[in-house]
Amino acid sequence: MSIPTESIGSIPRPPQLLEALQKFREGRLSQERLDACYDEAVRDTLQRFADTGSPVISDGEQTKSSFATYPLQGLRNIAEDGIVIPFADGHTRQLPRLTAGPFRYGVYAGSFVQAAKRYATRPLKQAVISASALSLLYPPEGIAGYSREAFIDDLIKETVADIRGCLEQGAHHVQIDFTEGRLSVKLDPSKQLLRQFIDLNNRVLAHFTPEQRQRIGVHTCPGGDHDSTHSADVDYADLLPSLFQLQAGNFYMQMASENNPEQVLAIIKNNIRPNQRVFVGVIDVLNPDVEEPELVRDRVLRAAEYIPVHQLGTTDDCGFSPFEDDTSTGRDTAFAKIKARVIGTEMAAKVLNS
Ligand SMILES: [Zn+2]
Repeated sequence: MSIPTESIGSIPRPPQLLEALQKFREGRLSQERLDACYDEAVRDTLQRFADTGSPVISDGEQTKSSFATYPLQGLRNIAEDGIVIPFADGHTRQLPRLTAGPFRYGVYAGSFVQAAKRYATRPLKQAVISASALSLLYPPEGIAGYSREAFIDDLIKETVADIRGCLEQGAHHVQIDFTEGRLSVKLDPSKQLLRQFIDLNNRVLAHFTPEQRQRIGVHTCPGGDHDSTHSADVDYADLLPSLFQLQAGNFYMQMASENNPEQVLAIIKNNIRPNQRVFVGVIDVLNPDVEEPELVRDRVLRAAEYIPVHQLGTTDDCGFSPFEDDTSTGRDTAFAKIKARVIGTEMAAKVLNS
């Protein structure tokens, strides 16, 4: 039996693309030239993914502004001054704020699958942003003429359409990015916010058949931006029992950079349900050193002591560059780490099959 292995999503953008984006924003490059740079980055990323031996590949989010904000592209009812997310190293990211209703996506992730298909030689994975993350766009003071309830109804419709579009374009797996899950426990230790997030995402998942939900997964992590985190100090024990209540088939979990992975694996063992698979993080994306395949193998074998092999997969702890301007990890390093994951996972499968 082979062990499935998939990346989370983002790959650092090539320097030529970042340069082109800069010029475009300064009005010194046409949309047409920028689109050509995007296209070349997508083509190169899919090629390099295939070269790693990865059984499932992706466009590396080359055309997303960030994992969370791509649906907002081109919208006119958005301001820049939304909620601020502080990271451990002192830097922050600020989410946009919705200024008027109705809420509609400017871009759907299915368009990324459609573009990637032209160059893909293997099954494609597509990441999408969660309804719970986008729920943070609605300001606490409310919006005149557009109630929070009306916003949430629109948000669910749009999130469902985003996922459905990816499935219809033939994505092998769709992954919902849920980095705010762990963060929510830090913001609200009573876990009421976490419960709200889980309920909201389950309202989205309820629109899909059990078969479709086996192709839908959820990614959890403590954040990964400029090699820093926003909620690594939140104990997984506070998150995981709720996380596995999500009606999804796959869970992509940061694990390589955890201080006590055995303890976390034991919690997974006690909470995972029979129709769920856990893709365990075996690559630390915040550490520039490339893992040896033997280290990956040993991490998989350790996970297999807790999780039945038919419910086990491997992944990276997080995307390598969730925001387009994050160049803390190089492209070559990212692909070398992915290759180590693929080889190490195959090595572990051989041991487990013998
Ligand atoms: Zn992540």
